[in-house]
Amino acid sequence: MKPTVGIVGGGILGMTAAYRLAQAGVAVTLYERAPDLGGLVGSFDFDGTAVDRFYHVVLPSDHRVLGLAEELGLGDTWRFRPTRVGFYGDGRLFSMTSPKEFLTFPLLRPRERARLAAFVARCQLTKGHDKLDDEPLDAWLRRHCGRGVVEKLWEPLLDSKFDGRYDDLPATYIWARTRRMGSTRDKSGREVMGWLEGGYQTLIDALEQKILALGGEVHAGATVDSIASDGGRAVGVVVDGRLRRFDHVLCTLAPPMARRLLSPGLAAQAPDDHCRYLGVVCLLLRTTRSVSPYYHLNITDRRVPLTTVVETTHVVDPEKVGGHLLYVSKYVDPGHPDHEATTAELEQRYLGYARTIFPDLRDDEIVSSVVQRARVTEPVHLVGGARRLPEMFSIPGLSLASTAHVYPEIVSGQAVMGVTEKVVPGILERLPAEQRAAA
Ligand SMILES: Cc1cc2nc3c(=O)[nH]c(=O)nc-3n(C[C@H](O)[C@H](O)[C@H](O)COP(=O)(O)OP(=O)(O)OC[C@H]3O[C@@H](n4cnc5c(N)ncnc54)[C@H](O)[C@@H]3O)c2cc1C
Repeated sequence: MKPTVGIVGGGILGMTAAYRLAQAGVAVTLYERAPDLGGLVGSFDFDGTAVDRFYHVVLPSDHRVLGLAEELGLGDTWRFRPTRVGFYGDGRLFSMTSPKEFLTFPLLRPRERARLAAFVARCQLTKGHDKLDDEPLDAWLRRHCGRGVVEKLWEPLLDSKFDGRYDDLPATYIWARTRRMGSTRDKSGREVMGWLEGGYQTLIDALEQKILALGGEVHAGATVDSIASDGGRAVGVVVDGRLRRFDHVLCTLAPPMARRLLSPGLAAQAPDDHCRYLGVVCLLLRTTRSVSPYYHLNITDRRVPLTTVVETTHVVDPEKVGGHLLYVSKYVDPGHPDHEATTAELEQRYLGYARTIFPDLRDDEIVSSVVQRARVTEPVHLVGGARRLPEMFSIPGLSLASTAHVYPEIVSGQAVMGVTEKVVPGILERLPAEQRAAA
């Protein structure tokens, strides 16, 4: 008989893990609370056309994502396009796309630009992160970039990304971010970003078909209420009041959500969670024309309390998504009042922020709009993060694997697939010996 694994969560992590386990001969059953699979990378029906719930691109260096797409027969549907990156500071928009624009960037003095350039080069050349784990970010930035660059650039950017709190972050954050963004450049120094036709959802749909073809079960609209235990061991999941027994359970939810599913006996064996978490609030506009000349906008002007504005239709074909898509986005603490604000209030306020940057955006150019919110989207690792990564297999019969295991990389589809590569062999090893032989 095949060994059985129950999987909680149908995001990219749960889906890739289910596929790899099914390929290894395991009978997988996946449960996803939402009516559709995909989680944060999924798409939704935006007035009749499927679009990404949040802005998602793939970088040329995302080899796991590109490799999986190839394996699933989707290799021909990639679109990689040159993109531009902008800054909004001192009430003005600037391009910071080409090396020349970097060297003439008006928000910094020539000496500050030179220090920033040297710092970026240093990040690219620093391969290991061991020494940076215990280094507080702010002090490290001040030492390498100087006060001017920190106050004019890093402080406002970090404030807006971390909802005002970054004093406990390690240097690895900016190191990893700078390296990831460096990997968007092609040989000529141009930034390029990619999109799979239909978005990540295409990958998720193809994974579902493969899992089903391998004999697995995929249940969307099925909330796991708890992870059942017997004598300190996980034995299955409870869905709709019914216990489904499995040889092993994989929970892919971030620790604060995973913990809610554990009985006291299992929770006592769960690893400590050393992360903070960020949520996101995002106004999505579909417009009749391109509003921002940039794919991605960094905002240093504190009068606009947004993290970024992303116009994905610089990468995505506008005709495929019914117009131009502008995501007006802010990362927020899970307790931020914007999670409770009414949709109408948020829509009005976030549109106001967008109009501060793009004052000529007219009402009749906005075809449709929607507010998307998610309370917990990404972990924030603190100083000493590498030593505090949670144990995946501390509870018999249960693996806890999530974005909290992504460190020091920036959380992305690519990084999450790295978590899949770690958890799947661990699960296979832990399946009962006789059933492992069957797998
Ligand atoms: C604004 C934003 C922009 C991003 N941009 C990019 C990008 O450009 N490129 C990139 O690669 N990555 C990007 N990311 C990161 C990427 O979205 C995440 O790394 C990835 O989606 C995490 O996948 P996951 O499966 O771990 O989690 P999730 O997608 O959160 O999946 C967890 C799933 O579990 C389900 N669930 C929760 N509770 C239960 C329950 N009790 N029972 C059953 N199911 C349950 C949820 O509904 C969800 O579907 C972005 C993220 C955000 C928030």
